[in-house]
Amino acid sequence: MQKKIEVGVLGATGMVGQHFVKFLQGHPWFELVWLGASDRSAGKKYRDATSWRLSGLMPEPAANLMVEECKPGNAPRLLFSATDSSVATEIEQAFARAGHIVVSNSKNHRMDPDVPLLVPELNPDHLKLLPLQRQRRGWRGAIVTNPNCSTVVLTLALGPFKPFGIRRVIVTTLQAISGAGYPGVASMDIMANVIPYIGGEEEKIEVETQKILGEFAEDRIQPLEAVVSAHCNRVPVVDGHLAAISVEFSHKPTQAEMSAALQQFHPRPQQLELPSAPPRPVIYMPECDRPQPRRDVERENGMACFVGRLRDCPVFHYKFLALGHNTVRGAAGAAVLNAELMYQEGLLEE
Ligand code: NAP
Repeated sequence: MQKKIEVGVLGATGMVGQHFVKFLQGHPWFELVWLGASDRSAGKKYRDATSWRLSGLMPEPAANLMVEECKPGNAPRLLFSATDSSVATEIEQAFARAGHIVVSNSKNHRMDPDVPLLVPELNPDHLKLLPLQRQRRGWRGAIVTNPNCSTVVLTLALGPFKPFGIRRVIVTTLQAISGAGYPGVASMDIMANVIPYIGGEEEKIEVETQKILGEFAEDRIQPLEAVVSAHCNRVPVVDGHLAAISVEFSHKPTQAEMSAALQQFHPRPQQLELPSAPPRPVIYMPECDRPQPRRDVERENGMACFVGRLRDCPVFHYKFLALGHNTVRGAAGAAVLNAELMYQEGLLEE
C-alpha cells in the first residue's frame, strides 16, 4: 500500500475507544488521524481528555491529537465507532448520511435488517446488504457492525460446524469484568464471587447468533433456524470470555468429522491474509484443562477463538468450551478486521 487510509474513532475517550486507539497503533493500512467524543472532551488534547485505563502508555501520536465533537465535518471517511449506546444511533446515522463508512462496535444498529452484523470468517457475504442499505436510507456512507463480545466467541466456535446443520445450542458464559467497561462491576460484588446476571446479554447472544450464521437471501438475511439458549455470568476474570457450549445438529457427525471441520476451517480473512486476521481463527487445544482465560486469551494478539474439551453430550450431540478476548476480538479488533475486509473487497472506495 502506497499511502495509508486515514481513520478516526467516535467515542475515542471511552474504554472501547481506548482499545481502538491501542489496536490501531502501527496498523499497516490505517492511520489514526481523528478522535471524537462528547462536548465534555472536545477541544482538549486526547491525553488531557482521557483517563487512560489500558496497560502500556497511551500511544504518543494519538495523545497529541485534539478531540473533536462527534459531528460530521472534517473527519476522515472511515470511522470506528465506540460511542455510548445512548447516543450511538443518531451519531452513527448522521455520519453515514454525510458519506462516512461507520464500522461500529455499539449494539444500536446490529439487528437492523439492512445492516451487516459481520464476522469476516463467517459471513463476509452479508456485506452485500450495503447497496440495499444505501438505497433504502438514501445514504452515501454506510454502517457495518460487529457482534456482542460473547456472541463473537460463540459464533466463531460454531462456525466450522455449520455444515452439519446446527439445530439447538445451549451456551453458559463466564464473562470477564472488562466487558462491563469502566468502572464496571463494583469490587465488593465481584471479588471471590460470580454474578449470574448481565442485563440484556442473553437476548443479544440468542438473536445475534441467528443473524450472523444466517444466509444472505437477495435483499435480507435469513436467520439460522437454530434455537439458542444463553445463560450469562460475570466472573472475577480481567480479560477473556469463556463459553461452555452444547450443540445438536441435523445428524450427529462423528468425532473425526468434527475434528476435521476444525482443522480445515480456513475462511476468507485467512485466505486474504488480512493484517489483523490470525493465521488460524479457531484453534483447538487438546489439553484436558484448556482453554483458560489467563493463560490463553492474549495469544494470537487476542484475535483467535480457542476451543477445547470437545466431547459427547448426553443431552445434545457434542459439548465443548470456547474462549475469546472480549475487548479485542469482541470489540476493537473485530471492527478493525471488518474494515480490513471491506477495504480488500473494494467497499471503502467512494
Ligand atoms: P464509555 O467508556 O462510557 O465511553 C463512551 C464514549 O462515548 C466516550 O468516548 C464518551 O465521550 C462518548 N460519548 C458519551 N456521550 C456522548 C455524546 N453525547 N456525544 C458524543 N460522544 C459521547 O463506554 P464503553 O464501555 O467504551 O462502550 C462504548 C460502546 O461500545 C457502547 O455502545 C457499548 O455498548 C459498546 N461495547 C462496550 C464493550 C466493553 O467491553 N466495554 C464491549 C462491546 C461493546 P466522553 O469521554 O467525552 O464522555
